[in-house]
Formats: sequence, C-alpha cells, structure tokens
Amino acid sequence: MYQSVNPYDGKTVKTFEQMTDKQLDAAIATAATCFERWKSLTFAARATIVAKASAIMHSRVDEFARPVTLEMGKLFAQARGEVVLSADIIDYYAENAERFLAPQRLKPTSGDADVESAPFGVLFGVEPWNFPYYQLARFAAPNLMAGNVVMVKHAACVPQCALAFEQLWRDAGAPPGAYTNLMISYDQVNRVIDDPRIKGVALTGSVAAGKLVAGRAGQNLKKSTMELGGSDAFIVLEDADLDKTVEWAVWGKMNNTGQCCVAAKRFIVVEPLADRFLAMFHDALAKLKAGDPMDAATTLGPLSTEAALVTLLGQVKRAVAAGAKLVMGGDRLARTGAFMAPTILTDIRPDNPAYREEFFGPVALFFRVKTEDEAIALANDSEFGLGGCVFTRDIARGKRVASRVDTGMMFINHPTWTTPDLPFGGIKNSGYGRELSSLGIQEFVNKKLIRVAAIDAPA
Ligand code: NAP
Repeated sequence: MYQSVNPYDGKTVKTFEQMTDKQLDAAIATAATCFERWKSLTFAARATIVAKASAIMHSRVDEFARPVTLEMGKLFAQARGEVVLSADIIDYYAENAERFLAPQRLKPTSGDADVESAPFGVLFGVEPWNFPYYQLARFAAPNLMAGNVVMVKHAACVPQCALAFEQLWRDAGAPPGAYTNLMISYDQVNRVIDDPRIKGVALTGSVAAGKLVAGRAGQNLKKSTMELGGSDAFIVLEDADLDKTVEWAVWGKMNNTGQCCVAAKRFIVVEPLADRFLAMFHDALAKLKAGDPMDAATTLGPLSTEAALVTLLGQVKRAVAAGAKLVMGGDRLARTGAFMAPTILTDIRPDNPAYREEFFGPVALFFRVKTEDEAIALANDSEFGLGGCVFTRDIARGKRVASRVDTGMMFINHPTWTTPDLPFGGIKNSGYGRELSSLGIQEFVNKKLIRVAAIDAPA
C-alpha cells in the first residue's frame, strides 16, 4: 500500500490509490509516444530541461527535504544534503552527457568505422526508499539525457517523495511521458517488465527483489542493472590515525541511521588497535541523541518503518542466540517511534547467521584480526561485493589492500560514498552494472557500429 507513515510518531499521514491496469497501459503508451520525440531532440534541447530540473531542486531544498524526513525519518540536515546531491547529479548529466555519448571513431584496417550511442527507449526502474531522490536522480538524469524516457515504481513508503520528483520534471518543462511515477503492485511490476514497449530494467533494492526483477527481465531478454545490498568492510590497520578513523566509523555506520547500501557494516580491526577502537567507537555511539529528525539537535533518527525495526531486532536476537556478544544496544529505545539503540555485536563466528547477513540500520559487527591478510580474507568472505574501505597512514599500502578486496568500490581513509562523477555499483550479490559518472550513462544505450567500407565483394 502506498502510504506516508511518519516513523517518528507512527502516525499515518496520507494513503494513495494504486494505478489500475488500464491507467498503467495508458501511461506506458504516453511514455512510448514521448520517446519518439524525445530521442530526436538535440542534447542541448534535452539539457535545457534537465538543467532546469536541477535548478528547481537547488532553489527549493527545504521543500524537497521535508517529505523525506516525514516519510522515512532521515535527519533533516541529511535530507537537505540528499536534495543538493540529487540536483548536482542531474546537473552533472545535463553538462556532460553529450561528451560522454559522442560517437567514437575506430581505426579499422581499411575504411572508416564509428560507434554511435543510440537510446534504447522506455526504461523501467524499481527504486528504494532509503535515498528517495538520489536513487531516482541517478537513474533518471543520465537516461533522460541519453534520449531514453523513464518510468519508476518507487518504494511504497515514500509516495510523497515519488510524486514530488515526478512534479519536478513537469515543472522543468519535460513533456508528458518523459518521467512517469507508477504506483503499482508487484504483479503490475511484472506486467511492465513483460511489456514489449519497455526496453530496459533497473532495480536498486534487496537481493530478493533483485533476483525476481532481474529474472523477469532475463526471461524477456531485456538488459538490466542491479544495485543491491552490501556488507561493506571497514578495515582498520595498525598505522591508522585512530581519532579520525573513529569519527569516520561513526559517520560510516550512522549516516542515514545505518540504512545505506554502502554503510560500513563489518568493522575489521587489527589486534594492536582493536581494544582502543572498540572503546572509542562505543563511547562515540553512546553520545548520539535520539529525537525529532526535524530538530537540528537530533543525531539519532528513527528507522524508516516499524517493520524495518522489527526485522533488525530479530536479526540481533538471532545473532546473540548463535553466540554473538552484545557490547551495547540491541533493543528499541523506550520511546514512541521506530527508534533502535546503536548496537555493537562482537564474537561473530562464521556459523552465526549474522556473519553473512546485511544489517540495515544502526548495528555494527565488530571483528578482531591479527594481520592485514586476515582482514582481507574476512572482508572477502561475503556474498556481497559493493563497497569497502581501509584506514591507514600509508596510502600505497591502502591501495594494495583495496586492490585485493573483491568489491565494486574501495575507499582509503573514508567510508564508501558517492559523488556524481564517480562510478557506483557492485559485484557478486551486490548486483551488476554501474550508475553515475561516465559509466552510468552507457548502460541503456545501443553501441551501434556504422561502417564505411570501400572494398569489392569477393569474386
Ligand atoms: P526492497 O524491499 O527490495 O525494495 C526496493 C524496491 O523494490 C521497492 O520499490 C519495492 O517495492 C520493490 N520490490 C520489493 N520486492 C519486490 C517484488 N517482489 N517485485 C517487485 N518489486 C519489488 O529493498 P528495501 O529493503 O526497501 O531497501 C533496502 C535494500 O536496498 C538493502 O538491501 C540495500 O542495501 C539496498 N540498496 C542498494 C543500493 C545500491 O545502490 N546498491 C542502494 C540503496 C539500497 P515496495 O516498497 O512496494 O515493497
């Protein structure tokens, strides 16, 4: 059910109607018609509209940020940050798309050859609630600039954000069908993927949803990209600057109340620093102040929904039952709203379910290791391969470690994070394909060879 429920006080704010099949078919028809015109516009013409969308977001940051905090509990300052980041992504593609998609001249042994980038058509995205605009921006902006049009099924708990983002494109002057929000059921998701007018599918979300949506796209031989879960390792080597490392550990774990695919989830610390790191990390997390996410003094917001909290509490309970030790937290806070106490688990053996699960919230898994090699082996002992980071004063050593960790992104002296110009994505169960940067715009374009040959046919 598409519903705004404020996780800070549990109150239902507004409920929205789902689309009928008839409305859905009409929306796809509008998008398909729009594509025929949109693809033939010049980059400059598309950029005018896309840049306008960015400018609108930049000029109305608070207005866009409010429903984020209302619907999924993000601290208001972070919601504002997300709006600015989303606007920056949109602008980045308005500025750079033409350059990224310029025809490439090849050098064949004879004659001429070029590779052009032609848009696929109508694309379908299934998107999550944790960054209600950023996730949409990184799908919509590159693809609109490439000449595709997009339809999005957003998460059911952020309908006001979904509508605000759709309205943004109307306000920017995009034609009907360029960007369409779909409030649809899972059955209708399948119906959209099966529709021959849909030419590509992108999902950001859980592994379970990814398998279903990618499977359906595969049955239809449609290209897909998958941005799925993660269990990022936060590796601390013995020469790390501990004060700075702990500050980043708190940010890496607690940004968005731990609900980031690239949140630091497994803290892997070598022996000489392990005890000190754990004590300092504990003290820093204990200082967080729960409260109204609209209040600037609050540093610990609620989780996105009551259901998310119940899932996380269940995971912690199972982890402890299987032998993990609770160093702090482990329970909900004794107050109204979906608040989880900052939690640290240690002594997690490989046979504990927690060893392999993704914890989507303020729960840190702490591991003590003897050597750098052991840290790398532990980091790699995961079905996930999204991001990760290593803290060391020796950058060359950090780069060597980064090269040996099997993920799509590695950061040195900073938790995994995102900017418009850096590629984002993972391997293994974290998915495939890349978003953002010059790579993200290449996923749903036809790399089309145009060959000029001036040779005679064989006799
Ligand atoms: P989710 O349950 O998979 O939801 C994501 C989207 O998929 C929502 O729109 C959801 O719709 C839809 N969905 C779920 N099951 C579906 C099904 N069977 N058929 C069709 N659509 C379906 O994920 P979540 O738990 O909300 O989000 C957190 C997950 O996303 C975490 O694992 C996180 O790591 C991952 N994530 C990854 C990235 C990345 O870039 N790699 C970024 C952010 C989040 P409803 O809301 O209607 O259920």
